Amino acid sequence: MAQLTFFGATGEVTGSRYLLETEDARILLECGLWQGGAQAERRNRASLKKLVRKIDAVVLSHGHLDHAGLLPKLVRDGYRGPVYCTRGTRELLAIMLRDAAHVMAKDIEWENRRRERADRKLLTPIYDMDDVDAALELCEPLRLGNAERIAPGIQLTLHDAGHILGSAIVDLIVEDGGRRRHLVFSGDLGNPDSVLMNEPARLEHADVVLLESTYGNRDHRPLDATLDELADILAQADRDGGNVLIPAFAVGRTQEVLYHLGMLRHAGRLPQQKVFLDSPMAIEVTQLYDRLSHLLDAEDLAILKSAGGPGLSQALPQLQLTENVEASMAINRIRGGAIIIAGAGMCSGGRIRHHLKYNLWRQQNHLVFVGFQAAGTLGRMLVDGAKKVKLFGEEIAVKAEVHTLGGFSAHAGQSQLLDWAAAFQNGPVFHLVHGEPEVRESLARALHARHGIDARLPEPGETVMM
Ligand SMILES: [Zn+2]
Ligand SMILES: [Zn+2]
Repeated sequence: MAQLTFFGATGEVTGSRYLLETEDARILLECGLWQGGAQAERRNRASLKKLVRKIDAVVLSHGHLDHAGLLPKLVRDGYRGPVYCTRGTRELLAIMLRDAAHVMAKDIEWENRRRERADRKLLTPIYDMDDVDAALELCEPLRLGNAERIAPGIQLTLHDAGHILGSAIVDLIVEDGGRRRHLVFSGDLGNPDSVLMNEPARLEHADVVLLESTYGNRDHRPLDATLDELADILAQADRDGGNVLIPAFAVGRTQEVLYHLGMLRHAGRLPQQKVFLDSPMAIEVTQLYDRLSHLLDAEDLAILKSAGGPGLSQALPQLQLTENVEASMAINRIRGGAIIIAGAGMCSGGRIRHHLKYNLWRQQNHLVFVGFQAAGTLGRMLVDGAKKVKLFGEEIAVKAEVHTLGGFSAHAGQSQLLDWAAAFQNGPVFHLVHGEPEVRESLARALHARHGIDARLPEPGETVMM
């Protein structure tokens, strides 16, 4: 009998990893990095050798690190089999995994200098650039909608999840001991209201569904209201003579924000003459979005074109791409009139931390969160109203105004998750994954109340029969 084990992103939002086992095949679904704090670091370091010996194939829904960021570690620990994903995901991974390895190498170098001085044992990185290159070699891009046999008795089809470039819903037909079961993993479902992405595909048949629940407890604000709010903040910052900081993930959110800034400019609602995209990775990804624009929502692209496009950067002539550190440091001297978009989206690393150091303590500045802030991150502390934060060993007062814009999510909100779940016609078993505990419980209650669906809330490490 086929069985499914929940290794990660179960009652939490990172470390996505599920194992499907039949008599004849073992498929690893996702290989995500745990993010946030020392415990995550320990879990990322744990050996995957036992897992590597078991598995025949890996399937990735999309390129976000919490879903695919541990793939090079799997390779470092010996994996040489195929990795199935879309072409968009493969191209994004090339950017994201290299960046992850690069950041890791720098962090380790820093940490090891301290350790050396203290005569402590030196660390090795979880993986390096060679592991990343080897992992990319294993990727076998699949077209959306094409069924492919990926292991004995296992047939895979990927469908558009509408979340980020290349994102897919994973659809597996599993034959085991004469029994045929249909497993669907939602991956991360996109927000149908968000720009650039298509609507998530609706599936009607499954026996077992793994449903993400990142935003399972609430709906996003309507996009129009969010854009008005953003325009108001930009106008206020202009009056205050301050800067606007936007911590944004390099993938998806940054491109969406650029799109909206381009549209605001077109509507005469963008007073700032300087917009900095200060993230080498976000710059690369933005160029990739422009290059693979045939994968994006055609209607949104047409609107962008009429507003000065065709590409994201053309629609925003005041956009400056800061590729090197000198250009990034030069931004620190700008006291007002600039919009600074930089990663990481939750302020847990990246150049945004430098900009926070130079801007947080001045009250004319504005900090605008456009995405989910996980528990334990600096971003979450700021959203929760911290009065002081520590940056580079220095205490920084939080005087800038902190805003959270709810409408930019790349994730489906509760109503959209409920609708997607209700499209299944034959009463599958639902397992809720990718959500903080109280959030997925809230989605479970809503599924029951609205559609009579009794979803399961698997425990980390739990195995269920399919
Ligand atoms: Zn994602
Ligand atoms: Zn996710």
